[in-house]
Amino acid sequence: MVRTSPVEGTKVPRCWPCARASAILARVELLEERRQVVDHCRRMRAEGLVVGTSGNISVRGGDGDLVAVSPSGLDYDEMTPDLVGVHRLDGSPVDAPLRPTTEMPMHLAVYARTDARAIVHTHSTSATVLSTLMDEVPPIHYLIAMFGGPVRVASYATYGTPELAASMITALEGRTACLLANHGAITYAPTLAGAYSQAVYLEWICDVYLRASAGTPRLLPPEEIEKVREKLTAYGPGRTPGDG
Ligand SMILES: [Zn+2]
Repeated sequence: MVRTSPVEGTKVPRCWPCARASAILARVELLEERRQVVDHCRRMRAEGLVVGTSGNISVRGGDGDLVAVSPSGLDYDEMTPDLVGVHRLDGSPVDAPLRPTTEMPMHLAVYARTDARAIVHTHSTSATVLSTLMDEVPPIHYLIAMFGGPVRVASYATYGTPELAASMITALEGRTACLLANHGAITYAPTLAGAYSQAVYLEWICDVYLRASAGTPRLLPPEEIEKVREKLTAYGPGRTPGDG
């Protein structure tokens, strides 16, 4: 038996057996999301977007009131869907055998303020290098428009803290990605495939800038980035942007 809160529309168990039933229901409901988290965590490491157990991924599921999030410090080879925790949007566990990622405050802050359904946080090399050099990713390529405009660098705060989540939210204003100073990058999208794709594109753009910095790169003017942003919006969701 599960009742629905008239205020938030969230499912609230009445008693311990109901709480257990709720957890089993969540396990079933978010099984696909948990599988996606495992698959993309492994892919993230295989494709060089993170080293070791760094980086983390979450997917919003259920009625939008639950989130499947990668656990803290677990080797991606040992991660299985049942070890991926399911939490409410206030961070409280529904079915979570392990502690969630230390960056849970960042994930919850994004879900609280955007329509994100998936979040990818990486320590990809070029994005991290650029985060130590710039306050914004320079408009070196028109695809920077896919993030809503030039990608900002959130001011530094210690990992896992509310302060980092707050500076990230400021940097994400009007964007679907930002860099985190001396740390890494974060992207969000309506799907995990989309958020992951954004992380790959962001890393590529940062890499292009760093390579071009061997000379004096020619940058694109803000009007051109805005023009491309409008074109990409018309291109339609769920498709790879650009001229390909
Ligand atoms: Zn990190």
